[in-house]
This record gives sequence, C-alpha cells and structure tokens, in this order.
Amino acid sequence: MSEKDNYQPVYIMPEGTQRNTGKNAQRMNIMAAKLVAEAVRTTLGPKGMDKMLVDSLGEVTVTNDGVTILREIEIEHPTAKMIVEVAKTQEDEVGDGTTTAVVIAGDLLKQAEGLLDKNIHSTVIAKGYRLAADKSQKILKNMASKLDLEDKDTLKKIAETAMTGKGAEDNKGRLASLVIEAVLKVGRKTKDSFTLDKTDIKVEKKTGAGVEESEIIQGIVLDKEKVHSGMPERVRNAKIALVDSPLEIKSLETDAKISITDPDKIQSFFDMEEAMIKRMIDKVSATKANVVICQKGIDDLAQHFLAKKGIYAVRRVKKSDMEKLAKATGAKIISDLNDFSAEDLGKAGLVEQVQVGDEYMTYVRECENPKALTLLLRGATHHVVDEVARAVDDAIGDVGSAMKHGFVVAGAGAPEIELSKELKKYANTLSGREQLAVQAFADALEVIPRTLAENAGLDPIDVLTELKAAHDNNEKWAGVNVFTGKIIDAWKEGIIEPLKIKTQAISSAADVAIMILRIDDIILSGKEESNPGRKDESFSD
Ligand code: ADP
Ligand code: MG
Repeated sequence: MSEKDNYQPVYIMPEGTQRNTGKNAQRMNIMAAKLVAEAVRTTLGPKGMDKMLVDSLGEVTVTNDGVTILREIEIEHPTAKMIVEVAKTQEDEVGDGTTTAVVIAGDLLKQAEGLLDKNIHSTVIAKGYRLAADKSQKILKNMASKLDLEDKDTLKKIAETAMTGKGAEDNKGRLASLVIEAVLKVGRKTKDSFTLDKTDIKVEKKTGAGVEESEIIQGIVLDKEKVHSGMPERVRNAKIALVDSPLEIKSLETDAKISITDPDKIQSFFDMEEAMIKRMIDKVSATKANVVICQKGIDDLAQHFLAKKGIYAVRRVKKSDMEKLAKATGAKIISDLNDFSAEDLGKAGLVEQVQVGDEYMTYVRECENPKALTLLLRGATHHVVDEVARAVDDAIGDVGSAMKHGFVVAGAGAPEIELSKELKKYANTLSGREQLAVQAFADALEVIPRTLAENAGLDPIDVLTELKAAHDNNEKWAGVNVFTGKIIDAWKEGIIEPLKIKTQAISSAADVAIMILRIDDIILSGKEESNPGRKDESFSD
C-alpha cells in the first residue's frame, strides 16, 4: 500500500455540490442583495422611473411598483429571493412601501460590507443591527402623529401620497376620493378600532374610457353577460339568488349508462329531463327571485325556463365574486335548491346589463349598506388601467393601514432622516463595536432621501446636507420636495403616510439583513433539478 492511499480525501457531500464558505459566502450574498435593491431603486418616489417588463410570452407590463417588478423578473439566486420575500411581506402587511423596504435592506448590507472590511465580525454587526432595529420601532412611534379617523382631509392626503408619480397621478384627487369613500363604506369601525378587509373592495378594470370616468358601484360589477337574450336588460328591486351548484342535470354520459331499447322511450327520457330542470327552476322562482347568479353552469333548457319567467341570470361567476356578492347584497349562497327560501335572497336596487367598451357586463348596483363594493377603474389601454389599479391598490393599503393602526408620519425622506439622527444619538450610548453597527444602520436609512433626490435629478449630497441641518434644527418633518429640489415641511405639504409603512419596512429589512449576515456557508446541491421548469411559487395567489 502506497503512502498516498492513506490520505484519501473525505467527501461528505455528493459530487457536484458547490460550496462557498466564510467571507466568500458573505460577499456573494451581499452582492446578490445589493443587485436586487439596485434593480428597483430607480423607481422610488414620485420622480422614480418606470420599468418595462416583458415576460416569456411577450406580455408587456409597464410599472413603478417594487413588488410587481420583483415578481415578474423571476429571480433565481437564493439570497436574492430572500430579499424579494421582504417586498412580499411588505405587500401583505401594508400594501405599499415595497421599494422602500428592499432599498433599505440593500443598503443595510452595503453598510455591513464596509464593517466587514474593517474586520468587524458579522455576529457583532448582526447584534448591533438588532439593537438598532428594535430602537427604531420606538423612535418611529414617538415621532408619529395620531390619526383622527373622521379627518377625511388627512385620509385623502394619505391616498394621494400613495399615488403621487404613479400612473394615476393626473387623476389622483378624484381617485383618492373614491378610495376614501370605498374604504369608509366597507371598513368595519367600532368605538376604538378599525379593520379593513381589502378583498371587500373589488377593483374591476375596464379599458375604453379616461381614468377620470372611474367610479364606485354600490355593489358588484361582474365581467359577465346575461345568459339568454330573452332575459330582461334590467331588473329593478332585484331579489337575488346566489347558487353555487350547477343548474343542469348531471351529464349522463359520464355518470351512468342507459340503454334505451324502445324508440318511444327516448322521448319520454327527454321529457323526464325537461321536467327535472323545470322543477329546479320552479324552486328558484317560488322564492320570488328575479335574478340568479350561478357559480357553475346553467344548461340551455334552464336558461330558457329562466328567460320565460323573466329572471335575469348569469353563470360561471368566480367564487371570490360570489362571496363579494353575498356581502354586498346580503344574500346567502345556496348549494341545495331543496332548502332554499326567500330569506336566502339578497337585495339590490338595480341589476342591469351594461355595454362597456365592446363587452357586456352585469352591474349589481344600489345595494343598501353594502359590505363589499366595486371600484370600477377606467383607462385608455390595459397598460394604463393596470398601472392605475396598482396605484389605487397602494392607496387602499395605505389608508386602511393608517386607519387600522391609527398613526401616521410625513414622508419625502423626513422620517428616515429623523430616525437616522436619533439612532446616532443612541449609538453614542453604546460602547465598542456595536456602536459602529448602529451607526452603520443609521447611515443606511439615508438611502431613502438620497435615492428620492437622485431619482429627481437633484444633487444627493446637497440635499442630504440641507436635510440634516434642518433636522438638527428640530424640524422633524423636513423632507425633500422632489419637484423643486427645496427642503420642505413634508407634513404641511400634505405628504402623509401610515406609520406602519416605515415600521414594517425597517423591521423586515433588518430581519433579512441580519439573517444574511449570519450565513457563512452556502451549499448548493449539485443534484439535478427534480422538478425542471419550476418557478418561484412564493407569489402564486
Ligand atoms: P414604495 O414602493 O416604497 O412605496 P414609491 O415609489 O411609492 O415606493 O415611493 C415612496 C416614497 O416616495 C416615500 O418615501 C414617500 O415619502 C415619497 N414621496 C411620496 N410623495 C412624495 C412627494 N410629493 N415628495 C417627495 N417624496 C414623496
Ligand atoms: Mg408607494
């Protein structure tokens, strides 16, 4: 036996495994995180640019929305995916501020890189970041103002701030009013709490008219036409049946086999089928329903009988729309026609078929105190309507979040600079290397005003210097007016955002930065992808 045989290398992982350890792993992760932040950074703020995304099928999306961009570009790198998760959490928790969260996460890691270069250990940085993140929550809460839930003026400013610089910009005043009206109508308010289920506001998009023609429908708009031309165009004082089972006889071909030997029997078989369907429709009309909305199919014969009775019917309505209809009209969704009674019907002042563009839609409108309603957004092309809908969605999220948590802050970079200032004071109370980490955290927050300035074509150094001077002078809402380049009181200018946007963005950015800093080993399995073509499923909704 030769000596060499005694020193066989030891493999603990299968062949093909890639491994990066220590500093190398950290640098790679930081690089990946910075790249994600870089990808969305230029869209931040009212002067941010849009991105044109083209998917593999050639479908084009033009957007300024952080989470939409990250969702569309199908990120592969595992660390980069973790950053994308931050945007997703922000979207779920607040509904706005996704770019802010990602940009802060990117800068926290960039600042950490500087500390690693100075040989500060990543666990020390992580600890300092944790201290800073916890302190930030307290500082932000102290800084925030209480929101008066009756103060529609401020609510409108929140909605407008969310839409500034987005596709909705030109009509933001009108859209903001619609958003406030919708949120106040469907939100649930008790003496000291407010909750909003965003799904109670159905945002329906339709091209073919200007954005200014967008409106609220006190009820639900369905992208469906009536099933039979003999049915009425409009039904006043509608009594609505919501049915989630098919109005047809189960297809015999698949369920059973019948042999008919006698030709006469064929006719009687059809007669029987007809009688069954007729009985079904009789059950519906016995309740005095004059509108039937069905989640499943309605067979030709059933359509005919319904039309004969003057009942308006639509079919194959989405389950989520059925639930909204139930909330809007007060109807109970029924599955079994046998225990169906007049009490299960919902009400609407008017149900009608309307031609919108070159399609027909069903409007269930004039619902009394609806618990769900529709925001019908219009726009010249679907690219326009889609981007307006994203802006409106941000506005709904912001107004809802502000009302739910009850606190607001000004924007335009003001809270980030104020927080940065206070964190630096806090850093001075700490000793040792954690102090440096807290300072780095404070520096990272400056990325927001700096980016707002850069995206507006302003000199970021000038802007930051002036901003810091103003904050040192106790002007806590000093922010940057991206249109004029001047330092302004963002509160007085009506640039108002929910506190939760900031607390959530900072806590998730810090969480992911800390997690990434603690990784010192990346092991990429060399195994064949078990499920080729699999995409990131984290956004599937
Ligand atoms: P996000 O996805 O993070 O919400 P946005 O593109 O919506 O990104 O930009 C939000 C930032 O723009 C916030 O920091 C907000 O304070 C700022 N902002 C909004 N309106 C104005 C304004 N009129 N002037 C300056 N900054 C503004
Ligand atoms: Mg926003």
